[in-house]
Amino acid sequence: MARERLYLFDTTLRDGAQTNGVDFTLADKLAIAGMLDELGIDYVEGGYPGANPTDTDFFSASRGLRGKFTAFGMTRRPGRSASNDPGLAALLEAKADAICFVAKAWDYHVRVALETTEEENLASIRDSVKVAKARGREVLLDCEHFFDGYKANSKYALACAKAAYDEGARWVVLCDTNGGTLPHEVEEIVGAVCKVIPGDHVGIHAHNDTEQAVANSFAAVRAGARQIQGTLNGLGERCGNANLVSIIPTLKLKAEFSDAFEIGVSDAQLKKLALVSHALDERLNRGSNRHAPYVGESAFATKAGIHASAIAKDPATYEHVAPETVGNKRKVLVSEQAGKSNILAELERIGIKADKDDPRIGRLLEIVKERETAGYAYEAADASFEMLARRTLGTVPNYFDVTQFDVNVEQRNNAKGERVTVTMAVVKVKVGNDNMISAAEGNGPVNALDRALRKDLGQYQKYIDGLKLTDYRVRILNSGTEAVTRVLIESEDENGDRWTTIGVSPNIIDASFQALMDSIIYKLVKSGAPA
Ligand SMILES: [Zn+2]
Repeated sequence: MARERLYLFDTTLRDGAQTNGVDFTLADKLAIAGMLDELGIDYVEGGYPGANPTDTDFFSASRGLRGKFTAFGMTRRPGRSASNDPGLAALLEAKADAICFVAKAWDYHVRVALETTEEENLASIRDSVKVAKARGREVLLDCEHFFDGYKANSKYALACAKAAYDEGARWVVLCDTNGGTLPHEVEEIVGAVCKVIPGDHVGIHAHNDTEQAVANSFAAVRAGARQIQGTLNGLGERCGNANLVSIIPTLKLKAEFSDAFEIGVSDAQLKKLALVSHALDERLNRGSNRHAPYVGESAFATKAGIHASAIAKDPATYEHVAPETVGNKRKVLVSEQAGKSNILAELERIGIKADKDDPRIGRLLEIVKERETAGYAYEAADASFEMLARRTLGTVPNYFDVTQFDVNVEQRNNAKGERVTVTMAVVKVKVGNDNMISAAEGNGPVNALDRALRKDLGQYQKYIDGLKLTDYRVRILNSGTEAVTRVLIESEDENGDRWTTIGVSPNIIDASFQALMDSIIYKLVKSGAPA
């Protein structure tokens, strides 16, 4: 049976840009649009040309996307003609394939916010669709507050949607602007709309204020809608928009949807999903949600011993989909509850052959337990576990030795008489027969130490050039004088591979140093650097 086409519309660069603390530069917008396009998204909404210089610049040139590059803006202002509205003119000037207009669909908003008549609002919708179509653009209409408007005055809300459709808009998008509508209400209302406007012209734009934006999007599809709007990682103001990173794999991997619908994202593109999700967080300079469905680091992680041994026999026993399909990895956590079967399963996963009767396996288990009591958390630091396992099994080359390091933090007045804090690190490294000294300044002791350590590793430098530290987390364990510091460092390399390392010590610099060293050595092992 032929599957129906379902379209994906991304608004990360427009609605997602409303997120508290998010401010995209032009370079960010170009990079994110590129990622969305590579993922196979049908519509990439770029912003609001004319509203701010970044968006105007972004739309000053054609961006050469495979998907439809879409500009967003308001319908003509009430009381003006379409040819005498500067906002509309800027929108029509934008180098875009499609224009998404936003219009009020709630009579109360038309009266109170827009201060105009219901009829003038309908005329504004019709005129705007008409003029954009005449300029050769595909047209979408976002019906703002559609669900609340429908509950208050279904006739008027429908009239707004119908006006755009009758004038030739390709899509009429029903927006749950306040995000408070529940899935059964969405299903019922979208069903009613689809009796008046064919479902393959109806879209859903859900906000996450009851944490059901994803569920609301699927409810709309069940009721007939054929376009879903959302953002990467659910970015958006307040509680965010519908999360396309959760929606896409559900559409691709759950039979209810994959049997019925085809989307623009191929199986190969789906494998890039985790990478795209993490790359967005990195651009925003924030840690990724470890517990994000499908793409989070913990999405396929299992802790208890009996689960781990079952997973080793057949992964499907505890997984709803295969992690590789979305570019994620299975992870069996090594924890205090770990038994030998856990350790063996994890070793097998990271490609270390070991015999269950090997006495070194028992020793590794002892060390893990001892260290976890001291504050290490290997379940959160896969790369440090791997280094520990390889060392215990005797297979990590001694690439270099750090013979000495020194970190100096100084606070003083600079030449301008301003109070400044300056941090400097000096590291002595022995690589083979060469002794090297590197010094670097940093914005803090750990940063300075990292920069000095990675400044010159002689013959190994080329293997770590692509290494980046993407996250650094510090936690103080215990209390009072017994306090120890736990440092987790997340790293990424030129292939987009990510790993986490750990250090624990009463001294934060020492803990950070352990985690840094593990990360560098992990990278050298991974790159096959010669001993
Ligand atoms: Zn919105």
